[in-house]
Amino acid sequence: MKAVYSDLHRSHDPQFFLVRGVVQRTTEQPERADRLLAGLKAGKHTLIEPTKFGQGPRARVHSPEYLSFLEGAWDEWSALGNAGPEMIANMHPVRNAGTYPTHIVGKLGWHTVDTAAPIGPGTWAGACASSDVAVTAAQMVLDGEDAVYALCRPPGHHAYRDLAGGFCFLNNGAIAAEHLRQKHERVAILDVDVHHGNGTQGIFYERGDVFTVSIHADPSFFYPFVWGYAHERGAGPGLGTNLNIPLAKGTGDDDYVKALALAEKAIRSFAPTALVVALGLDASEKDPLAGLAVTTDGFRRIGEALARFGLPTVLVQEGGYLSDILGANLTAVLGGFEAAR
Ligand code: ZN
Repeated sequence: MKAVYSDLHRSHDPQFFLVRGVVQRTTEQPERADRLLAGLKAGKHTLIEPTKFGQGPRARVHSPEYLSFLEGAWDEWSALGNAGPEMIANMHPVRNAGTYPTHIVGKLGWHTVDTAAPIGPGTWAGACASSDVAVTAAQMVLDGEDAVYALCRPPGHHAYRDLAGGFCFLNNGAIAAEHLRQKHERVAILDVDVHHGNGTQGIFYERGDVFTVSIHADPSFFYPFVWGYAHERGAGPGLGTNLNIPLAKGTGDDDYVKALALAEKAIRSFAPTALVVALGLDASEKDPLAGLAVTTDGFRRIGEALARFGLPTVLVQEGGYLSDILGANLTAVLGGFEAAR
């Protein structure tokens, strides 16, 4: 399986992370990509440089106001004077009868759902490079590759149409799915990150052409807390095309693979012709966020299960934080996929 990677992710190097009222160094660090890259090299995957697709693919998912905000955010912020080294909102307006603000501090609040997506000088460049990595992989699949992996950083699945949050700015998986939609009438997105893919759910919630499935640690004890419950099934034309499978804390390989079988059954009945996998590796037993307990062999089994869907597949990197087995877990999931194909 070919893998798309760009070094340009490094320009996004966030620091701030607020955990239970305590400011820590974020877990979404550039070193993540180094370890994932080592995992690709261990698996002998051919590395491909991304193509620059410009704003078009991003604009199919995100609003013009939001893209404009992200692009100009750092310049507006740094022109304020006395501004901090990263942009973190001091308000998150709920928008009821609100007016779109003109001031950067207002826009920052408007467009961030939490404090976990600090914007620095290189964030826009890094986020754009990450979306190009995803679109390049999707384009390769459109051009006939069976399956391609996209090493995206920053990740994307918590980003909504016009909201950043949870380390995410541009929803790479959603952008890849929209890119595939140019040739595929029905596309499924299967999110195996330990966190619910709330941004992806939000983007496609009222759409009947993109089936969104997320398997994750139960939001009753895990971020994002207010989305990801089984009763969230879509709305309007999208009613029935959103499936959430929340899992108990510490769920291991066997129960995880059973949840994947449920997801597979639902996806097969939707009958898509292409698949996007939102490939978080933070369900690992060694992940510092400690939600689920999937082993490296469990990731191999996940890869095998994903391959058996038999669909052209774009695998988009989501979460997965620093541990000694982060790279090995990527090697295992991609290796399992290849072995079962
Ligand atoms: Zn995650």
